[in-house]
Amino acid sequence: MSNRRSAELFERALTVTPGGVNSPVRAFRAVGGTPRFMARGAGAYLYDVDGREYVDLVCSWGPLILGHAHPEVVSAVQRAVSRGTSFGTPALPEVELAEEIVARTPVDQVRLVSSGTEATMSAIRLARGFTGRDLVIKFAGCYHGHVDALLAAAGSGVAALASAEVVAGAGPGVLSSPATPGVPAASTAATLVLPYNDLGSVQQAFAASGDRIACVITEAACGNMGAVAPVQGFNAGLAQLCRAHGALFISDEVMTGFRVSRSGHWGLDGAREGWTPDLVTFGKVMGGGFPAAAFGGREDVMARLAPIGPVYQAGTLSGNPIATTAGLTTLRLATDEVYARLDTAAATIERLVREALSDSGVPNVVQAAGNLFSPFFVKSELSTSIRNFADASNQAFYRHRAFFHSMLDQGVYLPPSAFEAWFVSAAHDDKAIDRIAAALPRAAAAAAASRPDDEGPA
Ligand code: PMP
Repeated sequence: MSNRRSAELFERALTVTPGGVNSPVRAFRAVGGTPRFMARGAGAYLYDVDGREYVDLVCSWGPLILGHAHPEVVSAVQRAVSRGTSFGTPALPEVELAEEIVARTPVDQVRLVSSGTEATMSAIRLARGFTGRDLVIKFAGCYHGHVDALLAAAGSGVAALASAEVVAGAGPGVLSSPATPGVPAASTAATLVLPYNDLGSVQQAFAASGDRIACVITEAACGNMGAVAPVQGFNAGLAQLCRAHGALFISDEVMTGFRVSRSGHWGLDGAREGWTPDLVTFGKVMGGGFPAAAFGGREDVMARLAPIGPVYQAGTLSGNPIATTAGLTTLRLATDEVYARLDTAAATIERLVREALSDSGVPNVVQAAGNLFSPFFVKSELSTSIRNFADASNQAFYRHRAFFHSMLDQGVYLPPSAFEAWFVSAAHDDKAIDRIAAALPRAAAAAAASRPDDEGPA
């Protein structure tokens, strides 16, 4: 079957949109070939404009834990639309969604926004406003949206000096230059990038400049360099260090929130270990496939926010009634059975991928963070775990490309990058998993046969 219609649409898109896409990873640049234009989704499946069906292991990059076009979400949204699409006033669904979030997570209050980027941007501003300090610690390889201050070593792994003055006093990390043109050096000059899972370097940074650090922001479990879980005690240690030094601990649960458990990743660590983040950011699942996100936290911190406090933050479509209805309906349907299904589906696929790659002799580390998981195409059998961005960057990417395209040709839609987690939904039933299982041996063989100079399809 050809990709004629996708190719035609991509040509049109390239004329009117840079790179033909509205978010870079969709352009397939890491894997080559023509991005598939999707026409519809149902349950665990996506259907492209050429009529191909795919088992979807991206799930819109996380939001769709119930699968595509869940009938109850669709009908709740249809009813909401018929009542009007936006009021610019407070309304019931946003209160109900906030209540649901507060009930499930360690936050006292939330403010709703429209994207994960807005959530982390606002959380950083609030942390700085609350503490009266400027420095932000983030970890190399963690992605928190395209916030200026957080686009330092966001996936580049190479931090450069931005401010000799600040670096001199800032301890072992490197104050970073922007990872992209267009971000003023001043925006990242107060961002200290440290290696993920290395509590020692955070301790040293606090020892050197603890009274200037406003916050530490981390993905609750990392999904943006592939799935890299925090080592035992890492998040707890961050929470404890922040408390000791009067900084705020921001746990970014945009990806993990309401997905890896009903309380997000905090349900897997903080809730058990007895600590809470000061601020948490949410997105994806809580919007049910619509643009909705949130940041929330301690009542005294949230009280610094306008209109009751001086830290300004606002949004024309924040708390939009359609988005909040979709999110609320999704969360209400996200029962313990749904989480059990996600966990089982993820563990099964994870095992199948590991077996297929190993059977074909492809060195691999397939690892999970809750029910997020991903394979790393490591260069040597001796690599047994990926703990940080340096590890994640040391992959045989050509093998990922070959594997990805074989899966795609066989009707399985994977993230088109080796730095992404895979996502399942409760709609990923045995039939969908059987399809994946059937495709894996050929894809693993393609990965085994690939060579470093293979560029993938043009
Ligand atoms: N934080 C994390 C952990 C994310 O994974 C993402 C997006 N993948 C964001 C923030 C940014 O969210 P958005 O794309 O909605 O701006």
